[in-house]
Amino acid sequence: MDDVLLRQALEFGKPYTGKGEVASYIPELSKADGRELGICVRTIEGEEFHCGYWQRRFTIQSISKVINLSMALEHHGFDAVFHKTKMEPSGASFNSMSRISDNEDIPFNPLINSGAIAIVELLLPLGLDYMLSAVRDLCGDKYITIDEEVFQSEWSHSARNRSLAYLLQSKGLMDGNVEDTLRLYTQLCSLSVTAESLSNLGQLLANGGVQPETGRRLLKEEVVRTTLTMMLTCGMYDGSGEFAVRVGLPSKSGVGGGILSVVPGEMGIGVYGPSLDRKGNSVAGQKVLEYISRTEKLHILDRYSRNSLSAPQN
Ligand code: GLU
Repeated sequence: MDDVLLRQALEFGKPYTGKGEVASYIPELSKADGRELGICVRTIEGEEFHCGYWQRRFTIQSISKVINLSMALEHHGFDAVFHKTKMEPSGASFNSMSRISDNEDIPFNPLINSGAIAIVELLLPLGLDYMLSAVRDLCGDKYITIDEEVFQSEWSHSARNRSLAYLLQSKGLMDGNVEDTLRLYTQLCSLSVTAESLSNLGQLLANGGVQPETGRRLLKEEVVRTTLTMMLTCGMYDGSGEFAVRVGLPSKSGVGGGILSVVPGEMGIGVYGPSLDRKGNSVAGQKVLEYISRTEKLHILDRYSRNSLSAPQN
């Protein structure tokens, strides 16, 4: 990994910025410049490489679901979390209602809106201030705050999430205050991060929950393992399968244009590219990650080919 590789990856990704659209269902997000693209890599040895718009602030959106899931697992444990959602890829869009309207079903997983809203209810007792300081710690970025414009914009266009939340309540999957849960969910989606903050979070996850610089354990090992597995199977909405084939790294995207990727035991990667494909994933961001994963053989299954014995020479 070096700066030259990141520059090449960015050049490879740039033409794809024209192939998508910035999100507009949250009106404030449509102000982003779809041509921007940035990347930041943090290795567990503490090296940092970056290129392009790696310092641009944007809202974390669905990548907050990774933090929400790990905090809920930390504070409430595996059974409480997976009582509220399954662990299955949905094959449907991020705000899908599919199947949860059937009586026996619960949300597919914690990384789509329905599952995430159910999980955020577990975080209500912790409160916004606690969560904000946890996010700053996990992302190694003390400048993270709520982007009020984005929050207000999403809050006033949250009919879909509101209907999901009330549906969950009608099924007994939420019993507390639906409006307070929705507000906290939306505030956590509106946190402003950079590609660098995401790479710090990725570095922490790559290192099993211990901050390499301080030696502090912020997340339990089994919490990281569960979170990374969910990211690998469900982190890119209904594009998770293809992304796993092409890139092969536990990742999570958000409609603000971010992608968080983790190379377990090696590094965290944060990408920013607000031009999105129809599924809500950064078009160019995915290409940048594909380039890096292929060039550096980072796909988690490439490890087997890296370690396999070469054919005997006769
Ligand atoms: N705040 C967004 C929503 O709930 C997050 C969606 C996303 O990034 O996938 O619609």
